[in-house]
Amino acid sequence: MNHEDGHIVKRIEYVNDRIKKAATGCGRDPEFVRLVAVSKTIPEERVRQAIEAGVTLLGENYIQEAKNKIDLLSHYPVSWHFIGHLQTNKAKYAVKAFDLIHTVDSLKLALELDKQARKINKNQDILIQVNISKELSKFGIDPNVTLDLIRQISKLKNIVVRGLMTMPPFFKNPEQARPYFKALNNLHHFIKQADMPDVYMEELSMGMTGDYKIAIEEGATLVRIGTAIFGKRN
Ligand SMILES: *Cc1c(COP(=O)(O)O)cnc(C)c1O
Repeated sequence: MNHEDGHIVKRIEYVNDRIKKAATGCGRDPEFVRLVAVSKTIPEERVRQAIEAGVTLLGENYIQEAKNKIDLLSHYPVSWHFIGHLQTNKAKYAVKAFDLIHTVDSLKLALELDKQARKINKNQDILIQVNISKELSKFGIDPNVTLDLIRQISKLKNIVVRGLMTMPPFFKNPEQARPYFKALNNLHHFIKQADMPDVYMEELSMGMTGDYKIAIEEGATLVRIGTAIFGKRN
C-alpha cells in the first residue's frame, strides 16, 4: 500500500467511524445509514482506491464525466448514484447506469425516466429532491406540492419512489442546518402516511461533509460525502 492509498483508507475509516458514532449516539442502528462517496471531479484512479478501501456506493453529478469513470470501473461490484441536476435529454444514460437517481424534481423528468426505463425493462429507483429551504437558486420541488408530484409519479409503471433528498443552505455552523433536515424528515412521514402504490418512503438522502452528523441525528439514511473522503475539489 503506498502513501496515497493509506491516506484515502484512513479518511474512509474516519468517516465510517463518525457515521457509526452519530447513529449510535442518537439511538439509531448504524446499518441504516449508508455512505455515498461523492466522486465528482475525482479522477478514476482515486475512485478506484476508494472502492478498494471498501466504498460500495458512489455519487456522481455530471453525466459525461460519470460515463467515462463508470466505463473504466465497470468490473467493480459497486452501485452508482446520480446526485446532480438531470436534464431530460440525459435520462436515457442515467437509467442505463445508475441504481438510484436522487434528484427528480419534476413530472416531466419522471415521465422521461419512466419511458427510458420501460425500454430496457428496468424499474428505476428514484428519490424526490425537495427544495426544503425554498431558496430561489435551488433545484428541487417546493415542499408544499411534493405530495402531489409523488402522487402523479406513483402512477408511472417503471419508476419506484424510494424517498426524499435535500440540500439545505450552506452554514458555517452545521447546527443551523438542523431545522431543514427535521423538515425533510417530517415531510417524509407525511408522505409515508399517504401510502401510495410503488412509493416506499425508506430513504432520506441528506448530509454532506460539513453537516452529516446533524443529518444522521435527524434521520438520514444516505449521507453524500465528497470532501471528507477525497479532499478538497479543484
Ligand atoms: C458535491 C456534492 C456533495 C458532497 O459535498 P461535500 O461537501 O464535498 O461532502 C453532496 N451532495 C451533492 C448533491 C453534491 O453536489
